[in-house]
Amino acid sequence: MNRQVYTFGGGVKHDDPRAKDKVITGGKGANLSEMAGIGLPVPPGFTITTETCVQYLADGGDFSDALRADVAQALIHIEKAVGKTFGDAADPLLVSVRSGARVSMPGMMDTVLNLGLNDQTVEGLATTSGDDRFAWDSYRRFVQMYSDVVLGVEHHLFEEALEIAKEDQGYHNDVEMSADDWRKIVKQYKAIVSAELGHEFPQDVTEQLWGAIKAVFDSWDSDRAKVYRRLNDIPGDWGTAVNVQAMVFGNMGDTSATGVAFTRDPATGERAYYGEWLVNAQGEDVVAGIRTPQYLTKAARERAGAKPLSMEESMPDAYGELAAVFDLLEKHYRDMQDIEFTVQQGKLWMLQTRSGKRTAKAALKMAVDMVDEGLIDEATAIRRIDPMALDQLLHPTLDPKAVRDILGKGLPASPGAASGAIVLDADTAEKRAEMGESVILVRVETSPEDIHGMHAAKGILTARGGMTSHAAVVARGMGRPCVSGASALSIDMKTRTLRIANRALKEGDIITLDGATGDIMFGQVSTIEPELAGDFGTLMVWADKHRRMKVRANAETPQDCKMARQFGAEGVGLCRTEHMFFDASRISAVRQMILAEDEAGRRTALEKLLPEQRDDFHQIFWEMAGLPVTIRLLDPPLHEFLPHSDAEFAELSDTIGIGVDTLKRRADELHEFNPMLGHRGCRLGITFPEIYEMQARAIFEAACDVAERLGDAPVPEVMIPLVATKKELQILKKLVDEIATKVFAEKGRTLDYMVGTMIELPRAALMAGEIAEEAKFFSFGTNDLTQTTLGVSRDDAARFLSPYVEKGIYPRDPFVSLDIEGVGQLVQMGADRGRATRADIKLGICGEHGGDPASIAFCEAVGLDYVSASPFRVPIARLAAAQAALG
Ligand code: PEP
Ligand code: MG
Repeated sequence: MNRQVYTFGGGVKHDDPRAKDKVITGGKGANLSEMAGIGLPVPPGFTITTETCVQYLADGGDFSDALRADVAQALIHIEKAVGKTFGDAADPLLVSVRSGARVSMPGMMDTVLNLGLNDQTVEGLATTSGDDRFAWDSYRRFVQMYSDVVLGVEHHLFEEALEIAKEDQGYHNDVEMSADDWRKIVKQYKAIVSAELGHEFPQDVTEQLWGAIKAVFDSWDSDRAKVYRRLNDIPGDWGTAVNVQAMVFGNMGDTSATGVAFTRDPATGERAYYGEWLVNAQGEDVVAGIRTPQYLTKAARERAGAKPLSMEESMPDAYGELAAVFDLLEKHYRDMQDIEFTVQQGKLWMLQTRSGKRTAKAALKMAVDMVDEGLIDEATAIRRIDPMALDQLLHPTLDPKAVRDILGKGLPASPGAASGAIVLDADTAEKRAEMGESVILVRVETSPEDIHGMHAAKGILTARGGMTSHAAVVARGMGRPCVSGASALSIDMKTRTLRIANRALKEGDIITLDGATGDIMFGQVSTIEPELAGDFGTLMVWADKHRRMKVRANAETPQDCKMARQFGAEGVGLCRTEHMFFDASRISAVRQMILAEDEAGRRTALEKLLPEQRDDFHQIFWEMAGLPVTIRLLDPPLHEFLPHSDAEFAELSDTIGIGVDTLKRRADELHEFNPMLGHRGCRLGITFPEIYEMQARAIFEAACDVAERLGDAPVPEVMIPLVATKKELQILKKLVDEIATKVFAEKGRTLDYMVGTMIELPRAALMAGEIAEEAKFFSFGTNDLTQTTLGVSRDDAARFLSPYVEKGIYPRDPFVSLDIEGVGQLVQMGADRGRATRADIKLGICGEHGGDPASIAFCEAVGLDYVSASPFRVPIARLAAAQAALG
């Protein structure tokens, strides 16, 4: 049987490593033990282990005799160290009781302070402290906290009673309350407890203690703790520890104080102590906002222009000691610490330390500074930054000080913030943007034909669609903030109005989107521009040094390529050619091609598209000179390109000279019931080879031209989508090779190129061994692979996937973070079988997962050669790949 209770402080020396192991004694307990161990002033106490909590919950809420005996022993340890006895009416020991899980969990039980007070011991405390008022104030705090936290009596009942008492006396402030006033309040509080619970407030201090221990353990399974765990991926079987510690008092007059502090500024990362403190106060007063806390340092006070003296000025000795502790703790933990302390009548006590939370900007500065200071090495600095947090630095963000009028919420599909006038269709978005207006494109969902409007808009809002819906994928690619799947949003295109929850809006009204949180706000909210500071660059250089996988970008415009390169992309992993088809200058040629009755008709239209496609590829090869570019041949079902409105049909009829009725009939014929599983991907190339012929020709002609101009030949990688069989790839590879040979003959030069395929269907993963006979590379298209493996439509998933995640059916949205357990097997299998056939096959991923750190770690484990992510995710992927390589 493992030890259940560990004491700390009061000169205890542990060689048992479990005492300082967060897994066993929780974050708070382990750090208290560690601080006491290095000789810092920690009030003596003990920790009941997380294992005990797990056992207690399994036993249905019973305490064993062994545990009771251990706790009694541990209490004696505190009594001896402090020289007071628990429950002693003359000179009582008081304790605090706190929860402390492996990671800090604000969803759990709060603290109980001053435990051990009752009608007798309060008198003892009054005598020994020589301060009646302090004793009775402490007692009323205890009754209130214990009743709220342990007994479940509503907090507000006590607050109301106190308010009334103060009003009756004509007081404004708690400090005006006398000892007698508090004495009366305690009586009232106890009456509230009896009335609410039907029994007296517990006077037996041992009963008080076990009540508090039980409440901490039970809080592990409280609703709010469960919600917190779910939101933060914390397993339910960790349990929480309980920390019982001798009380020290920050409210024993003007030589006492309490405070919280960070060893560096958590907002900027600046190397300056940062904190708040209050004279003559107890811990919760600082955070509760009852009194305005004071600045810790003179510099901070002066900068803020505040009058009340800083701790540095008014308690120089205790402050000096505290500053020394800050330095010691940073050196010890090699990280910025978030600290709680109390000064009791001039003596400093440490109550907590832990690694402090910080902004992305601060995280980068601290990591780089600490390497400079020799505190940590590069690998530790790399590991310490949350790759996703870099997002905060890559997009304009909302000014945290600005007021927000929140209309509703959707999915945080693409980060960044944007304000602008609501527009309800892509053409209007483009027109109004051309006039210099900032617009937000609001659609039920977007489709490829909205691209120009999405590009013109500052942000995109959709009512439907998940994190890999068209809107989300394209917006991330473009670096446009996007909120998708806002189910409270409804749009009436007739009146050009919309509703979000119960608020009515119209086209032209200004809204603001926060793509990082999914918030939709009314009106303009000011933003701050991203700042790619020097520390960011430094950390990226380190990351590049440590990673094995290459990082490419999913990009289809020269602008995206340029940005991707600036962000460090080492090639294009996916250029989706369909987006080029929607350009206003060529959409009618595309439509003419689709609606043609026969091959000859299609070829005529494709002739018009060839120079345009060639130009697209030329620009992309130019931007990516010297780097590999994977171009995927046409993928989406053709009907997506067709006109919808009567006006569009009429316009097309005019342009290509075919009657509207014929056009509509042909469009109807192209209708599909299940387009995602329909006439798309390589099936287009098999049935209409002339389309892929044109695209292949455009690629090779452009590559030859760029090679001619630059002397630095690009390496085109022609990628065939949605392959299920070797035969499909064989036919299409032959087609591409033939075009290459022709173009090289015409141009009088040859170029290296590759033909490969996407693995985005389960059959392709199963048959990867055979398919690799034809493919020089595989790129895992995990968007479609997830869709087809789970049988979940990526465009409809938003409606039902979040309850799935809430219920833990999938740990995370499988379109955001790869379902490693399921889809991951197919990726592994595809990679293994591909390599077995062709040892040097190049392997990458280009689904949205290529920008997700957890999925990137999996790609490293599988041994992929590269990941490809949208341009704004490239820095995130570089860091995540380095972390994955470091293990
Ligand atoms: C995929 O399916 O993962 C992929 C990258 O292709 P698309 O998202 O264009 O279908
Ligand atoms: Mg796909």
